[in-house]
Amino acid sequence: MRRPTRHADPSGLWAEARVLASEGRMEEAMAKVVALLANGSAALTNPHFAAAREILASSGWTACWSGPQGSGRIAVRGKDGSPLAELHVESRVAGTTDGTMSITPTVCLRPVPSRALSRPEKAALARLSAAFYPILETLRAQDEGRKVKAQLEIHEASEDAGRPDIILRTTFACNQRCPFCFVLHESRNVPMADIEAALDAAAAQVRPGLSLTISGGEPLVDPRLVAILESARAKGIREFTLQTNMIGLDKPGALETLVGLGVTRYDVSFHSRQPKMYDLITGTRGQFPRAAAGLKKLLAAGDLRVTPCVLLNEYNYRDLPGLMGFFGRLSRSSRPKAGRPLEVSFSLMNGAGMNNAAFMAVDLEKAAAFLWKAVGRCKEEGIGVMRFDGEGALPPCVLPRPRDFVAVCRFSQDRVRYADDFSGELGSVGRAKKPGCRRCPFDDRCLGVPAEYARIFGLGALKPPVRGSNATRRGPGASPRGSSRSGTGGRSSC
Ligand code: SF4
Repeated sequence: MRRPTRHADPSGLWAEARVLASEGRMEEAMAKVVALLANGSAALTNPHFAAAREILASSGWTACWSGPQGSGRIAVRGKDGSPLAELHVESRVAGTTDGTMSITPTVCLRPVPSRALSRPEKAALARLSAAFYPILETLRAQDEGRKVKAQLEIHEASEDAGRPDIILRTTFACNQRCPFCFVLHESRNVPMADIEAALDAAAAQVRPGLSLTISGGEPLVDPRLVAILESARAKGIREFTLQTNMIGLDKPGALETLVGLGVTRYDVSFHSRQPKMYDLITGTRGQFPRAAAGLKKLLAAGDLRVTPCVLLNEYNYRDLPGLMGFFGRLSRSSRPKAGRPLEVSFSLMNGAGMNNAAFMAVDLEKAAAFLWKAVGRCKEEGIGVMRFDGEGALPPCVLPRPRDFVAVCRFSQDRVRYADDFSGELGSVGRAKKPGCRRCPFDDRCLGVPAEYARIFGLGALKPPVRGSNATRRGPGASPRGSSRSGTGGRSSC
């Protein structure tokens, strides 16, 4: 019998997988990971890799890549070497499937048994499939920017069904050091050739009424920003959203230039009205006045869509109502009477943030009451509240009227695990929900919480319907029937 070839340099395969993942080529990265599993490498200390290897070893199974790189499947063989099942690797990059939008880059594994499986075999196959997701998440970290390529990301966040956020990150440099950020600050600007290629791809996807989101890093520190916008316009993209911390918007002429180029929407990070807290949250010193001046300038322009993005964390949760009051006062003093009202977006730290800065994470059980008060304050101030969309979405059931905040679009649930216990190593990657969430009317429009959050705080903040009860009276269904319009000014309805 032919012996499996041992790769001379298993860590080289791992490095290749990391590069592929950093470029969004997750299927090819997966092929490298499977090759590592197949050659029995014991050199790697990655706990998720070790977990997958342990599942194979304890079942007496082997796994190998089948098919060409970039579109294949993982063939699993049983103890006697006969085919047991295949895990079909389905790309979820850059697109929507059946109205479900995926966070990119990612893949979905679909188990296809080759024969009738026993119950333990089915369970082991499910565990093996689940074990691959954390490995891929581990690989996703950028390779210090040296091999960063411009990659269009399509995110769940959207205003209406079928209107995804299309995001282009032009730089990974930043003038802030938010501890929860996923960007490695040694990272560099994305090469212009890659940006041009991404803009060509974006031009084919950005339909009228859909804006291209320019992000980073901090796009305002990218000296090529104006040139990039001009190039995008030349390719037919006319509307832009800028994701920014606003440091630099206070420079004379800066905002006017951007608006002139079609940047009419601004998603601005603004996590505290208290300068000391602002410093802690952004890892900077003394930038609060500049950020506030930038926000004031945006509001004074009147007709721009301005969305302060507030990340709930241990430093700011108690003052969320005060922060909304601050936004209200700033808006009243700066915005023209007929100007467009502010809309606030609340978010939860995502998995990468939790891994980087778990010390800043806040237990939603204690933050929820302050968040609810903040929502009430928004109503008083005439500020809208965005629905809970995207990777940082809060589970809507943390608030008393979840129907008012639930996302419009369904989310891909391929990284969600339904369980009560998220302790241990495998609790650190992916998304977590309670088993009862499967009964929740909002299950497919909610991503639960990051698994790392669940490992630290548990899932006590989630309120799925109680078994046997009327889902419309208990748990997330408890909001009034027909209450499809947000009482808080949120834009879209389910
Ligand atoms: S009960 Fe579960 S699925 Fe429903 S909103 Fe809460 S976390 Fe989401």
